Amino acid sequence: MAVKKIASDTLDFILESCKASHPREFGALLEADGDTIINVIYLPGTDSTSRSVSLKTWMMPNMPHAGSVHSHPSGAIRPSEQDLIFFRMNEVNIIVGSPYTRESWKAFNKNGDLTSLEVVDYEFNDEFDDYLDGFDD
Ligand code: ZN
Repeated sequence: MAVKKIASDTLDFILESCKASHPREFGALLEADGDTIINVIYLPGTDSTSRSVSLKTWMMPNMPHAGSVHSHPSGAIRPSEQDLIFFRMNEVNIIVGSPYTRESWKAFNKNGDLTSLEVVDYEFNDEFDDYLDGFDD
């Protein structure tokens, strides 16, 4: 299923993570529920410097993921040559530029072309609520 949306809570979490990593780059993979990105997958051993993030994807064989996200502390929201090579492995790729606000990110497809991701409210798994409801009686 094509990824077309991102949960607003997940986007906020990404923006906060990018902010926290500044001036170093933040990088992670994205997990989707159907057509909506809902989760950030941190990779063990991700090298982060102010110039580049190398995602060690070989450390997570067979883990399904819908996309990638990384930050550009420089504020430029366009893919580098290396980004374009990495993008080919993912359906959707988000670049967040400093200052990491709702206005400073863009999504790109496999080919590095701009694509749109609708920011939506997503109802996160409510198993925990059900569990708590069990104590009502
Ligand atoms: Zn980049």
